Amino acid sequence: MPNRNDWFRKGLDHIWLPYAQMKTLPDPAPIRSTEGSLLLMEDGRTLIDGVGSWWTSVHGYNHPALLKAAHDQLDAMPHVMLGGLAHEQAYRLAARLAQVTPGTLSRVFFTESGSVAVEVAMKIAVQYAMNRTGARRTRFVSFKGGYHGDTFATMSVCDPEEGMHSLFAGVVPEQYVVDLPDSDDRAAALDRLLAQHDDIAAVIVEPLIQGAGGMRMHSPAVLQTLRAACDRHGVLLIFDEIFTGFGRTGELFAADRAGVTPDILCLGKALTGGVTPLAATIASDEVYAAFHTDSAEHALMHGPTFTGHAIACAVANAGLDLFEREPRLAQVRAVEKQLLDELDPLASLPQVADVRVCGAVAAVEFREDFDVEAARRWFIEQGTFIRPLGRVVYLTPSYVIESRQLSRLTGAIADFAGTLAG
Ligand SMILES: *Cc1c(COP(=O)(O)O)cnc(C)c1O
Repeated sequence: MPNRNDWFRKGLDHIWLPYAQMKTLPDPAPIRSTEGSLLLMEDGRTLIDGVGSWWTSVHGYNHPALLKAAHDQLDAMPHVMLGGLAHEQAYRLAARLAQVTPGTLSRVFFTESGSVAVEVAMKIAVQYAMNRTGARRTRFVSFKGGYHGDTFATMSVCDPEEGMHSLFAGVVPEQYVVDLPDSDDRAAALDRLLAQHDDIAAVIVEPLIQGAGGMRMHSPAVLQTLRAACDRHGVLLIFDEIFTGFGRTGELFAADRAGVTPDILCLGKALTGGVTPLAATIASDEVYAAFHTDSAEHALMHGPTFTGHAIACAVANAGLDLFEREPRLAQVRAVEKQLLDELDPLASLPQVADVRVCGAVAAVEFREDFDVEAARRWFIEQGTFIRPLGRVVYLTPSYVIESRQLSRLTGAIADFAGTLAG
């Protein structure tokens, strides 16, 4: 098939790929089409997808209901801007998200990427304090191992290494990046930090699972500690559920699983089931009240060109229908059980440091470094798409993956562990 891959060779000389040293990057796998949990390669091979396109395709690829929603909206009207005009899909989606998210979270701002959703959350938190009392609370508390995006403000609340704080010193604002309060000492340290500094606008956390940082998991008690500390010191709590939202942990939101409600919630990734970009920042009634005043200066000053994109919102509405109509959360729990059954035995291997599972997320952490690029190639040779993060080999499959497909993925990880033995 000499011509089939023409686009690939020609484009490879011009495309600038994410997180890649282009000079040494091994060739990515050219994909022709997708179906369910399968990636169909240009060369005719098929891969079982263990990643779900950066954790987005929770309903499986090419779900007919999502495709139909996109087609129908495209035929009627691809999009009109939300400045001065209105369209049904964004308004319906805002009302539905207000309904399905916990507590008084009820005011929804749409963006196109998770990073910008977090930027908006940070902007809201700073302006909230300003609008209420004129106080300049301009800094944030975040956690080691965390990831919140790649724009400068979001880099500042990432893990210092992940956020490349030293490389971009002077450009990335300095924040308080501390340990998660997963012990009494650390909880006390956080409490002191919040007591000593009156410049803190909010605490931001990925609830229950720090995704990009290596699928690190913590208990709901950590989030209860955060909630109590924020309340004690009059600081907002932001949950970045861009990864954990929409069923990933087994409840619709990690906030539900943990029984803790934040003041601001960020959503993205699975919001459209991987079909189009869309993200959302949702504020509580109390936060919103600080903006809803007689002063024009109290308005939120943010407005992406494609805010509330109609096709994206139509797909997101169809995705919410699927959570209502189909037994998605039960499917996540079935995936969780199978992941535990099939991966937990690896924990006894000497080369394995840890096996952890939460909802449709599994991580096998190895003790020693291995060649990540070689491992990625090896998984493709096994007919699977699995991309280790450092020493962590993880799965974030679609919730509707067939049980035998999931077994192929866990089997590949077990075989991979075998290659690292002794
Ligand atoms: C992916 C991710 C982001 C960034 O989202 P983008 O759409 O890539 O900008 C932010 N926070 C978390 C927790 C994420 O997983």
